[in-house]
Amino acid sequence: MSNLAWALTPKLLQLIILPTEKCNFRCTYCYEDFEIGRMKRNKIEAIKKLIDARLERNSLDALELSWFGGEPLLARDVVFELSEFAHQRFEAGRLKGLHGDTTTNGYLLDLPTLRRLVAARQSSFQISLDGYAEGHDRTRRYASGKGTFDRIWKNLLAARGSDIPFKIMLRLHQNAENGESMDRLIDEIAARFGGDRRFSAFFKTIENLGGPKSGAIQVMNKETAKERVARLQKVLSDAGLATSAVLEGPESNTGKPSVAERKPGGAAVAEADGAKKEQGAAPSKKFDGHICYAAKPNSLMIRADGTIGKCTVMLNDERNRIGKLNDDGTVTLDNEKISVWMRGFHALDVLELGCPAQNLPKLDVKPQEAPIKFHQLRAAAVA
Ligand code: SF4
Repeated sequence: MSNLAWALTPKLLQLIILPTEKCNFRCTYCYEDFEIGRMKRNKIEAIKKLIDARLERNSLDALELSWFGGEPLLARDVVFELSEFAHQRFEAGRLKGLHGDTTTNGYLLDLPTLRRLVAARQSSFQISLDGYAEGHDRTRRYASGKGTFDRIWKNLLAARGSDIPFKIMLRLHQNAENGESMDRLIDEIAARFGGDRRFSAFFKTIENLGGPKSGAIQVMNKETAKERVARLQKVLSDAGLATSAVLEGPESNTGKPSVAERKPGGAAVAEADGAKKEQGAAPSKKFDGHICYAAKPNSLMIRADGTIGKCTVMLNDERNRIGKLNDDGTVTLDNEKISVWMRGFHALDVLELGCPAQNLPKLDVKPQEAPIKFHQLRAAAVA
């Protein structure tokens, strides 16, 4: 099936779930406010009802669960419960496809957690590193202020020593100050993880778009970044690891699988920055097949309080509150708001499909309060 068909088919459902919006880290560049805590029982049950209602109507073949936060593994019991709920339906043959991915800081991803998630087909992970040891700890700190590297590295080494069939993408943040530490990290990754195809590396520069923590963000010169990343990519690919990189703009425009692109904290800063830079840019480049999950009618983000949104970056933007998950498993959606996220389908506009947050139209509409059935979403969304 083509990307376009996958984006539109109601037989596939992607739920990006934030089981908690709290985090155990306080990265120096993070944009999240941590105001919403852990998902409550009524919303956990509502997600189950939503999935079962779709299965009962025979309107769902494949489910993709994407865990995001906050730090999703702070609520790992919620992640286990919902993943295993979906996995039971897969094992019973009611779901033909099930896949899950987790964007985590890696601190709580110990071996038992990894094993249990992979057993429930939640086998892809993205973990961010900002350098080796104290280079990482300078920016990715625990809430108490202590370093986090040792524990994450221990978890990664344990994963490496296991036979668990996971996929871990190491997201390597480049900034103006972490060159030396990044060199060390790359050497260590090559030595410890080289040749293990369960691991891959993704390079991303941290950019600065202002905001309350902008003073802490050390932006890299573009040319220096290019030269550094090319050199580091070569070290890792010589060691038998797949690599990719985005040094500028919304990474979702690269054509990589959208869920694995998402990131905790600062990388979102860069991504939103890219989105902003595109404001006013001439749209309508030819469609290249890549569609951000935020543009897809069959992808919904469910926040810990049941708010439904589309984009994992613009969490506090009113236009990204497109509805709510009701306790009976139905969703109440605002069709006007949904349609602006999906406007790229009208002209197959590469920018609007690749990052619909860019040039997102301003809205002045009243939310539609009537609950709409999930199978109506596609029609409503692309109308
Ligand atoms: S809409 Fe843009 S900023 Fe939002 S998740 Fe997609 S690519 Fe990122």
